[in-house]
Amino acid sequence: MASTIAAPRGTADLMPPATARWQELEARIHRLARRYGYGEIRTPVFEATELFVRGVGETTDIVEKEMYTFVDRGGRSMTLRPEWTAPVVRAAMQHGLFSQGPQRLYYIGPIFRYERPQKGRYRQSHQFGIECAGFGGPEADVEVIALAWELMQSYGMAGVALHLNSIGDEACRPRYREALLAHFRPHRSELSEDSQRRLERNPLRLLDSKAPEDRPFLDSAPSFADVLCDACRAHFARVCGYLDAMGIPYAVDPRIVRGLDYYTRTVFEFVSDALGAQSTVCAGGRYDNLVKSLGGPDVPSVGFALGLERFLMILEAMGFTGEGGRDGIQAIALGADARATLVPLVARLRGAVRSPVFADYEDRKLLAHLKLADRNHARYALILGSDELAAGEIILRDLERRRDERWPLGSVEERAASVVEEGR
Ligand code: ATP
Ligand code: MG
Repeated sequence: MASTIAAPRGTADLMPPATARWQELEARIHRLARRYGYGEIRTPVFEATELFVRGVGETTDIVEKEMYTFVDRGGRSMTLRPEWTAPVVRAAMQHGLFSQGPQRLYYIGPIFRYERPQKGRYRQSHQFGIECAGFGGPEADVEVIALAWELMQSYGMAGVALHLNSIGDEACRPRYREALLAHFRPHRSELSEDSQRRLERNPLRLLDSKAPEDRPFLDSAPSFADVLCDACRAHFARVCGYLDAMGIPYAVDPRIVRGLDYYTRTVFEFVSDALGAQSTVCAGGRYDNLVKSLGGPDVPSVGFALGLERFLMILEAMGFTGEGGRDGIQAIALGADARATLVPLVARLRGAVRSPVFADYEDRKLLAHLKLADRNHARYALILGSDELAAGEIILRDLERRRDERWPLGSVEERAASVVEEGR
């Protein structure tokens, strides 16, 4: 026998009933984003490699070791999207959106990173994210945080904590850089290989390290709060003030940095106690310098990315299935003559009711048909046997209340429309 082919490591096939949970979450996200005035953006799954090298930063995990990069047949270096912010900014620049005033955009879709697959960490995963571009003030920071918070609240999620920090701007970051260098340099040889390499180029990146040998030096590192300039300090205080006023709980956490060079001022993460080691479900911050650094105008922006797999893991831990009760009709024909009548009836029913109409075309015993109805989670069965056919009738069985009614064949659509919609 030829060897079979499996899905690549770190990817997943999504099938029913899991896809019902995805659809429910995605539908909720679309409604929520719409309510906050965000419009959906979809960009290509691959982009010029250069976009991510410049947009994400050369010393980041993503660019150093996680990108799926290939040379296409025209000799161009292309990369599967490892994150959405750079492509969104690229698209907004390319289509002149930034000259039209503030932009509120959201996205849902796959990202690709060559990671070591483990719980909550995959090579193809999916993110929901938003980008709010054109506002420099703390109001926009709070708007994006509030949107993520509302998504979690809408499921009644407990055990999710918002961690908040400020990483300053061009005015105060150089001072922080120096403070970090002074802190880490004496321990250089004790740091992880990645951190040793990054130390001189971008010491901020070290704070983001997950290497256990770096841990003690991270814990004792100086905090940004000590060196923030007045403007950044005021901005951060106002973010905190708004969150207080809106009743969104948070903890100031000096260890949150976001590795990417273009982040400024506010950075935040939502962390869940239901996730184990990969505990960050949503991460974001303000990136006032990205658009400019990609060759665009000066557009202060803020956004987040939320991992849908991790979000669904939290929901699963809460026992949320995304499934409603029984819904729809299983149409059952017993015998070839009944089937000949039932098939066009099914087509008419699908036009008459909004609930699903399931049909099976094999000769089976009634019991086998009813098992299929259970598998389909159907609320009703419409049963047409030869006796019913001869009498010009059909049986409607309510599979939940275990009750039968006989309906004239000529009135099935109208009756189904009222009964099924009521019973939903
Ligand atoms: P981590 O520190 O876990 O590697 P990150 O800083 O690389 O996260 P971001 O780039 O900020 O993650 O992505 C935002 C969110 O997207 C993460 O908090 C997580 O929920 C999700 N995410 C990122 N990478 C993966 C992955 N490989 N598999 C599953 N989810 C992911
Ligand atoms: Mg990562």
